[in-house]
Amino acid sequence: MAPNILTPEARQENVKALALAAGITPEQAAERLDGRVLCTFDPDDAAACQFYEELRPVLGRTIDVDDTPTGRGYLVEMVIGDVQPRGVATAVFTRLRPDSSCFSPVLEGVHSPNPVHGALSVVAACYGAAVAVHRAVGAGIPNPPPDYLEIRYDEILPDLSVLNEAVDIGEAHLAGAGAIGNGFLWAARHVDLRGKLAVCDDDVVSSGNLQRQIWFDEGDIDDPKASTLCEKAQPHIPGCRLKPEPARLQELPNRSGAWLKRLIVAVDSRRARRELQNEIPAEVFDASTTDIREVVVHYNTALSDLACMGCLYKADEKEASQDQIIAEHLGVSVDEVRASRVSPAAAAAIARKHPHLQPAMIEGQAFDSLYKALCATGKLHASVGKQVVAPFAFVSVLAGTLLLFEVMARLARPGLAQTNEWHVSPWREPFGRGRLTRLRFNGCECCGDSARARALRALRTRLWVGKRDNRAAVKE
Ligand SMILES: [Zn+2]
Repeated sequence: MAPNILTPEARQENVKALALAAGITPEQAAERLDGRVLCTFDPDDAAACQFYEELRPVLGRTIDVDDTPTGRGYLVEMVIGDVQPRGVATAVFTRLRPDSSCFSPVLEGVHSPNPVHGALSVVAACYGAAVAVHRAVGAGIPNPPPDYLEIRYDEILPDLSVLNEAVDIGEAHLAGAGAIGNGFLWAARHVDLRGKLAVCDDDVVSSGNLQRQIWFDEGDIDDPKASTLCEKAQPHIPGCRLKPEPARLQELPNRSGAWLKRLIVAVDSRRARRELQNEIPAEVFDASTTDIREVVVHYNTALSDLACMGCLYKADEKEASQDQIIAEHLGVSVDEVRASRVSPAAAAAIARKHPHLQPAMIEGQAFDSLYKALCATGKLHASVGKQVVAPFAFVSVLAGTLLLFEVMARLARPGLAQTNEWHVSPWREPFGRGRLTRLRFNGCECCGDSARARALRALRTRLWVGKRDNRAAVKE
């Protein structure tokens, strides 16, 4: 990995996220994040080494991490496995076992030096990063990890054996090559995914993105996200062919007939999710983050009676006031913001209000991303709404990992999962009550009770079924 991940813009994104979460000023947050975390482990302990190899890239996008003391001050020492702490800072004792990982301020419980499944070590690393961030810089964050945090892997994925099976995703689309899309393919390094995955994103990598988009480094800035992600992830996922599409899924050509049988959603806004649902995919796997507080995993099929993304992510007041804030600060109308992408006319208006911006550079960008980028570089001194503050890297990587597990579990064990929505705190143990069954919302703009929506879904489903039958016939 390139040495410089935490560019000034990436650090600024972490400062904003921490300031907002902990209720402190950006100056205080910057001072806290200036510290470092030390990881102490025995290099002959295979489980500890595996955990550290996954922890370092994730935690290192939030705060600097060392595995040998440099003489500088440390905020926290992660003591991984059966090893003596160096005693340079508050210790977090990390104990790894075949079925769980746990984090505690005192040494307790057994540790096993046998490595676990690689995908589970990503899960352990995300929660380990959460504890390290909380103990190092997170005083004041609501709902922090308990003193003793134990993550049982079967609470994350009830049937862990699916991780050892080849899972064929057929021809699927991944919408979004940002933080969650990165996390999805990051965890996929450790499993045997088969099939074809079209990775759709029209955005380019920005310096601030390095704060959470785990595959990208400084050398990727200004390169297209879709092709960069595919290029970097493909060698690690040999069984699944990744195809970059440098466009939003809603703008791909040939979106007719039996297309979009399987859609994996990793975009960054509620509105984009509704737009994707309106493409009437047969099957949707989705994960989202609510700043640093929560990960939500959702699943739907076109003909079920359960909620779709439009039901779950309906336009709300927060979104309306966020549109208003973005419109005012950028100098455009709310309707233009609702169009999602910066039109040529909007680009000209924004450049009039913000002369340091070139219209050609911002045309076609997502309003959310442009606003987020301007806030991160300090070009806008805005009252930043919660929806435009980026989560920490471990939150996005956890979301992508849970999305991968959802895809694998549903495809390998059809009919096993009964719920369609799962709320997970990235800071605490997952609870069974976080899994819910949400029914359709009558007023949903995507699946609401209109004859047209029903007819379209029925038509598309006939096409999908027809396609499957045709294939079976050809084989015979
Ligand atoms: Zn709906």
